[in-house]
Amino acid sequence: MSKEASKAKKAAIISVGTELLMGEITNTNTVFLSQKLNDLGIDVLFHHTVGDNPGRLSLVLKESLAECDLIITTGGLGPTQDDMTKEVVCKIMRDELVMNEKWLAYLYKRYERRGRKMTDNNRKQALIPSRATMLFNEVGSAPGFVLKDPYGRKAVCCLPGPPREMKWMYENKLEPILSGGENGVLAHRMLRTFGIGESSLETALLDLIDGQTDPTIATYAKEGECAVRVASKRETAEEAETAVENMVHLIAYRIGEYIYSYDDVDLVRVVADQLIERNLTLAAAESCTGGMFGAAMTDVPGISAVFDRSLVTYSNEAKMQELGVREETLEQYGAVSEETAREMAEGVREASGADIGISVTGIAGPDGGTEEKPVGTVYYALATKDHTVSRKTIWNTGNRRSNRNYAVLNMLDMIRREFI
Ligand code: ATP
Ligand code: MG
Repeated sequence: MSKEASKAKKAAIISVGTELLMGEITNTNTVFLSQKLNDLGIDVLFHHTVGDNPGRLSLVLKESLAECDLIITTGGLGPTQDDMTKEVVCKIMRDELVMNEKWLAYLYKRYERRGRKMTDNNRKQALIPSRATMLFNEVGSAPGFVLKDPYGRKAVCCLPGPPREMKWMYENKLEPILSGGENGVLAHRMLRTFGIGESSLETALLDLIDGQTDPTIATYAKEGECAVRVASKRETAEEAETAVENMVHLIAYRIGEYIYSYDDVDLVRVVADQLIERNLTLAAAESCTGGMFGAAMTDVPGISAVFDRSLVTYSNEAKMQELGVREETLEQYGAVSEETAREMAEGVREASGADIGISVTGIAGPDGGTEEKPVGTVYYALATKDHTVSRKTIWNTGNRRSNRNYAVLNMLDMIRREFI
């Protein structure tokens, strides 16, 4: 999800190929290109997939051109009968195909090197629109190209279908054009936040988002986390970087406490780095997350220096036996309660001798909720030798796994906040 109040370019991606529609291959090209374009601050508005059919390709091209400044197609650049992307793009953009002598010479050499003879339909691969900028292909036999409309306002970029060729051409030839080249140099930063919802985040930054065309600010939400992307395009890299830095400072002034990374680093990595840097050991007691916290921590290389254990104490007995949670506490307040969470965190800290004990107990759903404690109610506690703090969240996406994932993020966030 991206909301960008700016003059960010709008793009559509068109995948051409009947195999895609038949479900024979997975459309990995679109996933790759969408991520890359988003990295550049270009908003992808549409994904289209069409078969090898000139009429329907014309249709989606026209539709995309009405809404977008940038269209990227993949597939249908080869030499065979069903490859017709070039012809259709050329017609819609009011250009004509001409033989590109440079590519023709390259093709001859390529075939010669492989000891093969070039056929007439191979020559077809050297045809590109007369006004187009050719994109060289060092890993295949079809070149790509960028073709602008006669007024130079909109561009259609055609890339080959085979993912290896498409990626190579995008990274080596197209991205440099899209990310700056003639129009300036792009700088960007991805800030990551936790604990502030997307709408509160937008409210906090509204005037900055509304007032700016450069730097642009976009927010992205996923599973309780929000990212803020700040991008600027200026004449020099230094100017672009300064513009981004200034905006980042303004944003940090308003929502700094929620920002856990200024460089697009995952929360678990940030927490692990903090623990390692301070040489603080950590032990966890998990109930509703059933080991997900331990799994997340142990995913980080080098964590063994500080991560001691994570006990999965699901039953009341386990909570009592392993952590010394008192029976009266469980009876009086229940397993899902602040009191139990506190005793769990203190218990695992004492049992392990770690500097920090962290705990979680909650109702992941879909069943088990009550009026007082609905599904999604989770209690957490963090204990050090000096103090114990707790937190409660109520978060129910209707999905057990994502509810538990959200709980893991909260545990990490509590540890992170110990350091600010
Ligand atoms: P070629 O010169 O190989 O014919 P082309 O540019 O004409 O290349 P296509 O014929 O459309 O490309 O596709 C070639 C192969 O690339 C397909 O058989 C498929 O395996 C793969 N491919 C095409 N489009 C996609 C896509 N969107 N995602 C993943 N793979 C794709
Ligand atoms: Mg083909």
